[in-house]
Amino acid sequence: MTAIENAIRKAMTAAGRLHNDLAIRDRIERANGTLNGQVDVFGVMARLNLPLIFRPLDGLLGAFMSEPNPGVLVTTKRPLSVQRFTAAHELGHFYLKHRPSLDDDSILRRSPFSASKDANLQEVEADAFAASFLLPQWLAIFHCKRHGWTKQDLPDPRTVYQLSLRAGTSYAATCWTLARYNMISRLDAKQLADIEPKKIKKAILGDVEPAAYYGDVWELGEADKGEVLHGGPDDLFVVRLKENAGAGYLWRLEGLNSDAFTVREDVREQTDAETAGGPVVRRIVAQSVRQQQGSIRMTEARPWQPGSVVNDYTLDVDLYGPEVAGWSRAERRFRLEAA
Ligand SMILES: [Zn+2]
Repeated sequence: MTAIENAIRKAMTAAGRLHNDLAIRDRIERANGTLNGQVDVFGVMARLNLPLIFRPLDGLLGAFMSEPNPGVLVTTKRPLSVQRFTAAHELGHFYLKHRPSLDDDSILRRSPFSASKDANLQEVEADAFAASFLLPQWLAIFHCKRHGWTKQDLPDPRTVYQLSLRAGTSYAATCWTLARYNMISRLDAKQLADIEPKKIKKAILGDVEPAAYYGDVWELGEADKGEVLHGGPDDLFVVRLKENAGAGYLWRLEGLNSDAFTVREDVREQTDAETAGGPVVRRIVAQSVRQQQGSIRMTEARPWQPGSVVNDYTLDVDLYGPEVAGWSRAERRFRLEAA
């Protein structure tokens, strides 16, 4: 085994040990009620008592310091998925007892599971730790099962992008991590990683054109019910639900408050097997209009019989976007609970 491969395995084993110690897999797989399908890396750092401060850093994504006491800095100037990867990388430096490290955005450019022979082994370890800590194989499988994504579906950029949103990982890191687990081939990963997320967002949105493509585009269906989604204030939600229109049952959108979301599209899709009176697919595109913690809620009922609800669709959203200067939201909650 090469020194690089050795470093990668050591780091992945360490990430798995930390998941075990904190029962992270149990919390996600056995969630009662609302499911939080991400590894809460900021919350983990709070529980480990590893100080984490967000700052508008120049030229750096993050830093790990060990003197006089261990601590981590992460930039406020990048999206949440990058902040999460950076924090997990610095957590790797801490957990693997590394020397202090200043990390610029080369940590995003390199694949977390390959490196040249002369690479800095400490950085190789921190990258592999970060990628496998945020997206362990069991979590990738968990989300695939929940959404019915098979091995055949995975090389599709839309599927990988949706997985990355659920897991809170960057799109490119998700490609390389799936390849490491042999869930896609290395060639697939390379081709997928070359695709701009903006192109994927456009393909999902079709005729809907947002003012800018800063926000993420979530494809939601039955499988997402009961999950809490962590996103940003400009995110778009493409909800596709079966509707028993023939029997007079229609989805009502009044749960999408207009001070929180604008409905950008509301159509019934033609399906191949469509016969008069059968169920159709209702496609609703809603865009968040502000930072918010709220929910997407709809009920299916007969319009002339408000009490005739046959189905409801609810999921929670946490659309604060990147962490701002100071402590993480998770740490403020943690300190409040401990007080
Ligand atoms: Zn580093």
